[in-house]
Amino acid sequence: MSPPTMSGVLAVIGAGPAGLAAALEAARSGLKPRVLDQHRQVGGIARTELVRGYRLDIGGHRFFTRVPPIQRLWEEALGPDFRLTRRLSRIFYEGKFYRYPLDLGETLDNLGPWRSLAAVASFARARCRPRGPSETFEQWVTHRFGRYLYETFFRTYTEKVWGISCRELRADWAAQRIRDLSLLTAVRHALWPSRGVGPRSLIDQFHYPRLGPGMMWERLRDQVEQSGGTVQTQQEVTEIHHRSGRVVSLSLRHMDGRTTTLPVAEAISTMALDDLIVRLRPAPPAAVIEAARSLRYRDFVLVGLVLRRPGLFADNWLYVHSPEVLVGRIQNFGAWSADLVPDPQASCLGMEYFCNRGDRVWSMTDGDLIRLAAQELELLGLAPRHCLDWGAVIRQPKAYPVYDPHYQRHLETIRSWLTTLANFQTIGRNGQHRYNNMDHSMLTGVSAVHRVLGEDTDPWAVNVDDSYHEGRAAPKGVGP
Ligand SMILES: Cc1cc2nc3c(=O)[nH]c(=O)nc-3n(C[C@H](O)[C@H](O)[C@H](O)COP(=O)(O)OP(=O)(O)OC[C@H]3O[C@@H](n4cnc5c(N)ncnc54)[C@H](O)[C@@H]3O)c2cc1C
Repeated sequence: MSPPTMSGVLAVIGAGPAGLAAALEAARSGLKPRVLDQHRQVGGIARTELVRGYRLDIGGHRFFTRVPPIQRLWEEALGPDFRLTRRLSRIFYEGKFYRYPLDLGETLDNLGPWRSLAAVASFARARCRPRGPSETFEQWVTHRFGRYLYETFFRTYTEKVWGISCRELRADWAAQRIRDLSLLTAVRHALWPSRGVGPRSLIDQFHYPRLGPGMMWERLRDQVEQSGGTVQTQQEVTEIHHRSGRVVSLSLRHMDGRTTTLPVAEAISTMALDDLIVRLRPAPPAAVIEAARSLRYRDFVLVGLVLRRPGLFADNWLYVHSPEVLVGRIQNFGAWSADLVPDPQASCLGMEYFCNRGDRVWSMTDGDLIRLAAQELELLGLAPRHCLDWGAVIRQPKAYPVYDPHYQRHLETIRSWLTTLANFQTIGRNGQHRYNNMDHSMLTGVSAVHRVLGEDTDPWAVNVDDSYHEGRAAPKGVGP
């Protein structure tokens, strides 16, 4: 890498995975990055919240990557605290567990002979027919797996996650996250399940920090600071000032209400694009503001429940397809790492509700949400309500950038205007309105820094491949 020539501050907005990866790369390249985050702790959506000694992961963050430098970075950061964890995640539907990724043999067994026949016939029909257009999620899945499997294993859960019809949801997400399989492969896996494509280890195990994902970001923050950068929390970037095609300064609001101005030579932002656009001074053209306003997000409520009963189920998480409950997924934190749950006689579950800010679920009081979660757990037959010891609620806005029919157009409008700012880049998940996982969010940060250093790189070129796809028999992730 060329020696750094930049004088002045490299500001990084956001201390989530993308911002910290950018800062670490910059600091190790001899720059002095200054990371600013509005939250009280680092890690962004991938932080770990500590409540009464219990550690709650906002969603259950599996560390999985096919990018060796990111894997190395994770391993170096945590050493023995970066542990391999056995994976078990199943779909809970109509009172039955279905292994996930789907195991064809078990699925057919659970469905019983008649429904199995219908599923196989529908699958075979889909595979033998010429494939029509796959513009929506529904088309993408039905053309590959048949309508029966789509209705049974994809539709309800996907609509819970995104809050829009699968007919409206673009196929991009499916193409990015679900592994296609040929009829032949499916049959082979049903008959000889152990002969998987790809290494089994990627499916059956994953890495996880001993104290949850937040441990990784705290370590990265320390490394940034040890390498000459700074990471400041509870500092909100309220305005981004630009002149003659360059960002010149940021306005910061501190915890005590003070506001200050930070002159910058370069800036990299991980904040959501709609938040960013309204903070630009002078304001961008009306069409850009309108495009930013039109981007949609899905929000997320995590209800942590501590129950006086250990070993409720073995899974790391369950996908709850059952339409009679609102909960979409249930994390079993002790199965991720026993160190998240200080009392071995207790279980700590994360009941995940996908919602929109201001809707019924988002607006419920914490007490009502805890009651709802405990009731639904009982209704699903997973734990009686009286086992509940206490609960805690975490609301996470903008957990998912939504791929609706118009997002690409809006994104293009925003992106092309942002290129007029020569020393400014947007990275990460909401910074690119892309369904990036932690590794790809981090890679966009690394790429942005290389660009600052004069290399011909493009953070927007990260994550356009199929490297998420893992597993042998079936779709990898109906879940986020
Ligand atoms: C439920 C769920 C489960 C997930 N599971 C996985 C998984 O298993 N594996 C995986 O790899 N990925 C997973 N992800 C994705 C992962 O969380 C994201 O890829 C990652 O957190 C994105 O990092 P980021 O730095 O781009 O953004 P963020 O994590 O959103 O961080 C952005 C940061 O910017 C700060 N910020 C925003 N605006 C301002 C402002 N104006 N001023 C100052 N600071 C600001 C925020 O406070 C935040 O800390 C999951 C996500 C969700 C929602």
